[in-house]
Amino acid sequence: MTAQTAPGADSAAGIVIIGAGTAGVTAAATLRAGGYGGTVTLIGAEPGLPYRRTALSKDLLAADLSEARIALQKPEFWDAKSIDVRDSVRVTAIDPDARTVALDDGSALRYAALVLATGGQPVRPGWLDDAVPSLRTRDDALAIRDDLRRSERLIVIGGGLIGLELAASAASHGMSASVVEVSDRLVGRVMPAVVSDYLAALHADNGVWLRTSSAADSAGPRRVQLADGTHLVGTVVAAIGARPDLALAEAAGVPVCPDGIVVNSALATDVPGIYAAGDVAALPDLRTGAPARGEHWFGATDQGKAVAKSVLADLAGTPAPTFAEVPRAWTMQYGVNIQMVGWPTASDDIRVDGSLADSDALVTTFDEGGALIGAVAVGRAAAARECRSEIAAGLGSKV
Ligand SMILES: Cc1cc2nc3c(=O)[nH]c(=O)nc-3n(C[C@H](O)[C@H](O)[C@H](O)COP(=O)(O)OP(=O)(O)OC[C@H]3O[C@@H](n4cnc5c(N)ncnc54)[C@H](O)[C@@H]3O)c2cc1C
Repeated sequence: MTAQTAPGADSAAGIVIIGAGTAGVTAAATLRAGGYGGTVTLIGAEPGLPYRRTALSKDLLAADLSEARIALQKPEFWDAKSIDVRDSVRVTAIDPDARTVALDDGSALRYAALVLATGGQPVRPGWLDDAVPSLRTRDDALAIRDDLRRSERLIVIGGGLIGLELAASAASHGMSASVVEVSDRLVGRVMPAVVSDYLAALHADNGVWLRTSSAADSAGPRRVQLADGTHLVGTVVAAIGARPDLALAEAAGVPVCPDGIVVNSALATDVPGIYAAGDVAALPDLRTGAPARGEHWFGATDQGKAVAKSVLADLAGTPAPTFAEVPRAWTMQYGVNIQMVGWPTASDDIRVDGSLADSDALVTTFDEGGALIGAVAVGRAAAARECRSEIAAGLGSKV
């Protein structure tokens, strides 16, 4: 395609993508697949080639986390597609009037369009010692694994999906594993209670020591003290959620909400030429229209594709396509594949088909009108796909 230059854009400038995670990488690849012939620069703060973050917590003790194994693209891809990948470099400022970004190596880049795909950072409350690792990067995973192999005792603070995947890995390798969760059930943010109960039983059956409704008062790298005075000793990992770092966007005057960079359904911000995608972006929820941010692999990938198409449409002066995908995510624990689609926690009208005790079940959620709005498929990947299609059909013209 031959992209024209949008009003205000610099004809010699190319497309700059900040963040070399799955959203940024997919956006870069989609720009080339869409025929964009200008400069594409992908800037990532982490060292090395872009990699699959989801691999970091799945059977951590046995996983092959070599760069080649978890790379998002083969090394030759980047040259073949003429995509300029810059690793170990951080963007420190955006000037939306001059359409430039400043990098921490002292250089600057002009852009015709800028994609913010900066993901999220682990939550680090004050009671957490700086030496306690969180799991977000490949370096974090390698360091946690080394320490865990020495201690053979894992203490996870946070009973979310990443924490449970870590616990499953330790328990599967015969190590002691404990999970401490402040709320009254596991994975409460993303799963219905019946699935929380199932996961609690699955972990307990595998020897994991679970403590819900239990706050950590203080935590160092080898010790956690709970509010009730209990002390736990082992390799401590904080898995208490992630938040987007909004400072870069805010300083540039890009509108943000408490939980993300606000974009429209074409993934464009209010600032001309600036877009956002992936874990950092808060886009109109398909059901409510309110800004909502996901933290799921498929969402980041789908948005990476969509943001590239929007950029290309804007540069060509054609209408930008609308992004409308029913959310989907998965986790893998003790060899059980669990898929989530739609909004499984949005209502209390829950039905269970099959047997959760046998890790073979479909949990479905319905709205007040009886329409399917969410599902969790335990050991039934095909059922998740069918539910997603049904939810999309129910949303009609929105998807
Ligand atoms: C351990 C782990 C396991 C997961 N497992 C699953 C799973 O099983 N299923 C699932 O659906 N989801 C899973 N997720 C979530 C999924 O990985 C994320 O939703 C996805 O990676 C988000 O992609 P992203 O490109 O938006 O952001 P990220 O992958 O976070 O990438 C953003 C990149 O931007 C870089 N960056 C930030 N600021 C700057 C800057 N100023 N300059 C330059 N670079 C910058 C960051 O260093 C980072 O490399 C998991 C997440 C983790 C951490």
